Amino acid sequence: MFILDNVPLSSYSTMRLGGKAQHFTEVNDRNEMASAINWALDQNMPFRVIGSGSNIVWTDDGFPGLLIQNKIQGFGTQNLTEAEVYITAGGGMSWDDFVAKTTELGLTGLEMLSLIPGTVGATPVQNVGAYGQSVSDTLVTLEVYDSQARDFVTLRASDCQLGYRTSIFKTSQQGRYAITGATFFLRHGNPQPPYYSALQQYCEARNLTELTPKAAREAVIDIRASKLPDPAVIANCGSFFANPVIPESQLLDLQTSYPEMPYWPIEGTNTVKIPAAWLMEAAGFKDYHDQATGMATWHAQPLVVINESAISTAQLLQFRQKVMDSVQQKFGITLTQEPELLGS
Ligand SMILES: Cc1cc2nc3c(=O)[nH]c(=O)nc-3n(C[C@H](O)[C@H](O)[C@H](O)COP(=O)(O)OP(=O)(O)OC[C@H]3O[C@@H](n4cnc5c(N)ncnc54)[C@H](O)[C@@H]3O)c2cc1C
Repeated sequence: MFILDNVPLSSYSTMRLGGKAQHFTEVNDRNEMASAINWALDQNMPFRVIGSGSNIVWTDDGFPGLLIQNKIQGFGTQNLTEAEVYITAGGGMSWDDFVAKTTELGLTGLEMLSLIPGTVGATPVQNVGAYGQSVSDTLVTLEVYDSQARDFVTLRASDCQLGYRTSIFKTSQQGRYAITGATFFLRHGNPQPPYYSALQQYCEARNLTELTPKAAREAVIDIRASKLPDPAVIANCGSFFANPVIPESQLLDLQTSYPEMPYWPIEGTNTVKIPAAWLMEAAGFKDYHDQATGMATWHAQPLVVINESAISTAQLLQFRQKVMDSVQQKFGITLTQEPELLGS
């Protein structure tokens, strides 16, 4: 195991900010994952397993422990019937390469999750979702290293409390498991229309009535590329705020002043979800460039906060507060950050 010291964390967050990791290592197989975690445990040292850092903001103080980057590759298929397949991937495999392979095989179930940055092993952590599909729709099992038992175990998806941008990996069992592999249940066939609204509109404009998984992937890539910045070029972590959930009674009050406010009812809960992008735009943060901090919002999607010239996470947090205060003052709604703020 090769361990580096004092490694800049800006290379391990697509926001490109943060202090230093006390120690850093890369793992390429299960044994290396177990050794790295045991090395930290033996010294009572904190550790953190990451993929590509597309959903992490590091503090300026850095990470006082061992940062472990998961690079475990692998791809396998197991036919269940003529139409149904189990697909397994290594936790460190690029998520988008994985989705591409499944669509090449004519499998449906993951095509709407195309062009999402990151690794396979990170997707269950916040139950990645887009265009009407979520990882929880098709995930069957996870192979994980359990740092409490110091052993590999298999978790069923149903054990992971996968919800809207959440799971046990972010809540009750945070930091316990390192995800080394994931198995999905996919089917041969096409995704069924009507599709998620943006994709449906895209198809109608082009007279496309039925999409193969590969064609759906290409359409999603086309739509996403027109709306979202490429993190390899522009520093960002995708959606910076989660869509807030408020009581229906609060929505009714707000509608007297903002009748056009969009919302999605959440069945059986007396609550509704409000698009954070709409709140930010209405609060004046569309294509907003903050000279004081070097942070900005992406012109085609205000929910994406981009780092134009900030050099510290403190600047990002200052901008975050500015947005949150404005939305709070205007609507009485508290925004919460979606990418995790990690470090000391
Ligand atoms: C431009 C852009 C668009 C995006 N679009 C979407 C979207 O449409 N939908 C969506 O849901 N997300 C989206 N995201 C967020 C992000 O891509 C996903 O959350 C992705 O799954 C993160 O993968 P990662 O490998 O970069 O994880 P990291 O950022 O490295 O890690 C995220 C969290 O998962 C943990 N983790 C990572 N790997 C493991 C592992 N193997 N075992 C245990 N814990 C682990 C980390 O400790 C951390 O807590 C977007 C991000 C960007 C930059």
